[in-house]
Amino acid sequence: MENKNGAKNIYKPAFKDFALKDVKLLDEYYASLTQKDVDFLNTFNPDKLLYNFRLTAGWTKEEIQDGRFDYAKNGNIATSSYSGWENTRIGGHTLGHYLTAAAQAIAQGLGGCKGDDGITLDKRVDYLLEGILDCQKKNDELCAKNQNRHRGFIFGATMADPQQPELQFDKVESTNASDTWVPWYTIHKLMNGFVETYKLTGKKAALEIAENLGEWIYTRTARWDDNLKYRVLGIEYGGMNDCVYELYKCAAATGYVQSEHFLQAAHKFDEERLYEKINSGVSKETGTIKAGIDLLNNRHANTTIPKYIGALNRYITLQGKDGSDKYLEYVENFWDLVVNHHTYITGGNSECEHFGRDDILDAERSNCNCETCNTHNMLKITRELFKITGNKKYADYYENTFMNAIMASVNGETGMTTYFQPMASGCFKNFCNPDVNKNYFWCCTGTGLENFTKLGDSFYFYNNGDTPAGSEATLVANQFVSSSVYWEEKGVTLVQKSGIPQTDKTSFTIKSGKADGTSFTLMIRVPDWIAGKPVLKINGTDDNTAITDGYLKITRNWKNNDTIELTLPMNIVPYTLADNKGTVFAFKYGPVVLAAELGKDKAMTLRQVGVQCDVAANKIIFGKLMNLNGNYGGTSGLPVLEGETICTNGVPVEKFMNDINEHLVRVDGSNSANGTSNGDNLAFELRDTDWETRDDGDTPHKPLIFSPYYKLNDQRYGIYWLFSEKQNNESGILDSKRAARDTRVYLDGIGVGYGAQTEGNAKTYPCMEEKRTGSVGDPNALTRYAKKGGSFSYLFQVEPGKKNYLVCGFLMEDDGKTICIKCGKVIIAEFILDSAAQISKSAEAVIKAAGEKQSSTSSSEKYFMRFELPQKAVKTAKKFDGKNVIRISFSGKNDDESARIVSPAKTCTEYSHNAGIESLNINGTKAEVLPNGNLKATAPKNAAFIKLNVKLNDGNGLLYINDKLVDDSKEISIPVTTNPLLLGLKIYAEDHETAVEKSLLINMQ
Ligand SMILES: [Zn+2]
Repeated sequence: MENKNGAKNIYKPAFKDFALKDVKLLDEYYASLTQKDVDFLNTFNPDKLLYNFRLTAGWTKEEIQDGRFDYAKNGNIATSSYSGWENTRIGGHTLGHYLTAAAQAIAQGLGGCKGDDGITLDKRVDYLLEGILDCQKKNDELCAKNQNRHRGFIFGATMADPQQPELQFDKVESTNASDTWVPWYTIHKLMNGFVETYKLTGKKAALEIAENLGEWIYTRTARWDDNLKYRVLGIEYGGMNDCVYELYKCAAATGYVQSEHFLQAAHKFDEERLYEKINSGVSKETGTIKAGIDLLNNRHANTTIPKYIGALNRYITLQGKDGSDKYLEYVENFWDLVVNHHTYITGGNSECEHFGRDDILDAERSNCNCETCNTHNMLKITRELFKITGNKKYADYYENTFMNAIMASVNGETGMTTYFQPMASGCFKNFCNPDVNKNYFWCCTGTGLENFTKLGDSFYFYNNGDTPAGSEATLVANQFVSSSVYWEEKGVTLVQKSGIPQTDKTSFTIKSGKADGTSFTLMIRVPDWIAGKPVLKINGTDDNTAITDGYLKITRNWKNNDTIELTLPMNIVPYTLADNKGTVFAFKYGPVVLAAELGKDKAMTLRQVGVQCDVAANKIIFGKLMNLNGNYGGTSGLPVLEGETICTNGVPVEKFMNDINEHLVRVDGSNSANGTSNGDNLAFELRDTDWETRDDGDTPHKPLIFSPYYKLNDQRYGIYWLFSEKQNNESGILDSKRAARDTRVYLDGIGVGYGAQTEGNAKTYPCMEEKRTGSVGDPNALTRYAKKGGSFSYLFQVEPGKKNYLVCGFLMEDDGKTICIKCGKVIIAEFILDSAAQISKSAEAVIKAAGEKQSSTSSSEKYFMRFELPQKAVKTAKKFDGKNVIRISFSGKNDDESARIVSPAKTCTEYSHNAGIESLNINGTKAEVLPNGNLKATAPKNAAFIKLNVKLNDGNGLLYINDKLVDDSKEISIPVTTNPLLLGLKIYAEDHETAVEKSLLINMQ
């Protein structure tokens, strides 16, 4: 493959980016988000950020608290680090993000902003750098006395052993990586913070720290052979290659004599085996990457994406030489695979932090999609690919993802940011805590800090006429946000005033001090969402500049106050998902993704998935609530609630979507969610569907209103909806009943295979104990298995006095392996895996019992089985954290290697078996129960319908009327076809197995 700029080993990027200081945000909303970010940064106490770094460097707690460290000199001494992730083995990552975010703000002239303590952002950064330099000095002094310390080292995690400050790094190099979390990931955040601070602010201390730390990295990695390298790189390491290549460039430019060390160290983090593996999907015929071979399946997305940021930086650093041209190809192919086969309409990707199978996206819509770090990092790759290739597809993706994932990740009121963005309809976003002392400091909190102090970094690009993109100096306008850019070489400022997406118009004005004008090419992107042709006017006169490579390229001698008016027509465009093509749809209007406003309610509660990551605990569609109980690794495959399917009243869905602009109609949105909170009025009403005639009960029925997703921050929403020509509710009823019963009996779930965060350790629940097991720290598969002679066990919650079950999953490809599940000496199950037999015996009961709706493709891989826990075992329950727990262990039979256990493993109590009707009313009157149990009632003569209200003994049971499953939670209308009317009722208990049959005779009189 060749780039637009010719052979890849001739390095000539198409465009350069502008310095942050040269781009000004004129859009009030955007500018306010940057200010809120800066204000939040100014609430941080630098001594708290530095607290664990000082402990690691060798100061004692007493020394740290004796008054020597007091950033504001007001006696307010830090006595701990921050909480949440900052107080764990990943602690210290926030300081890196903080520096990057603050440096970006300082570069834009915001360094003088002060916090309530009177300290400016600029001073805070200086204090942090000084603090870290002191840590390095202290560490270096102690090196002579402690062979476990090495020069240049700094770290801010909680330490397991103060005598071994580098223990986490030693462990990831050994075969036991337990209780380490991801130390190289943390180093990446820090190194990136120092290097960016130096680049953006010129602060020399930042470069000095980075060089010292870089030498420590060089020394540690120089002795890695390939075996050791790939063992270490099996654990998330962020973009270590990226930041150390960046350090190399800075160090080399300032004449640092050992800068080659950094070039070598950076390359240690280039994962050629991964790059080659993913590239093996490139088709020999087309040269493009193929989907359907699942090369990304089960890979942790935010582990994988930054590896490619680093790969791209190798290409940039070596300028295509020494084989680095191959690296550009790696990144282009990876980008294509992610964007075209793993990405939702918003530009986000992943479910519970992981990529799934190629094009399996509808089945993975949950409350845990689209981790914000992933989109942040995809955009980092995207802007570099744009600069290198000049290919418009990168600018299109950038706009979409920036608008609908990054701008959607922030609460405009508080400035706080998201971790996940649910793609399951009926959920809502959750933002981190605005109180710095209560924040959990997620990874995404850190990237969130960075995102909003560089909003304008990819609006404009330029070149000076010296690249293959053209011999004329060129200014590129890629995004349509009110802003200005100052082009120093030309002495020109371009001012953009954009009405998009409220209107389809934007305008540009040239500000130039030169009386005789300035000659250059202005390139304006013609976006992929345009509906029709762009309409261009220059100084009020129609201009028919043709579209070249997706851009309007206008070359002329620009004079002061020259104006360009541009109309970019927009309309509604439906987008489907490959694994449910033609049924599931989401909508964009111009550049913005729309979401249906589903309102606020009291049930908008949170629960934690993984480590202190709180997510929507339930979803509600049309009054039906589904609890989302899945733990880390078990949150996808949600059943569809009945109300999620919208009926197009007999119009074929394809036709409905072709005519969508007649059915999703712009309305006055001043009363919509965005209208009230932000003064915007972009809103659309969905018409010509069954939604309009749905019965809400007592409340007045509201139409379904769609508005821009990125501003829908404080209520439930639905981006994706299922569409059907006719109403077919049976599967919806069944799915929601299954979900509800599993919610009722659910006790506990464990994210098997993910490591300390969800498998616990000696002290933290669920307190995994293991010896000789596999999958430790392996981000590619959420499974655990016992090796020969090994076993693993967890505490599981049980409910004494009831029947309890263990539900766990297996992989079909493990057929022939054995599993032995025990509680103490009591055997719960012991057998040889034979998936065909085990599924056929009770496929319904087995798979559905686990509350899992398997996507059609993944059901061929894993299946779930339910085992009753013997009372002998349940009786041994002890209290832990207020729960009744028993320890359940897994091993192979006769100490052989065991089959893999798939996440999540759950415990639950039994379904109820009470089949029957508690009450049945006809037109408001109770039916008479005959001695034989059948029912009898009367209804008015001439009635066209009778209205039935039924209450089942088991609320999660099923009611069939004349063999048709009906929704017993609502009033049921039945047409009167005969007199008398005889109906056959079949009522199932919650187990959906126990059933009774009754007849209902209705006389019209
Ligand atoms: Zn994250």
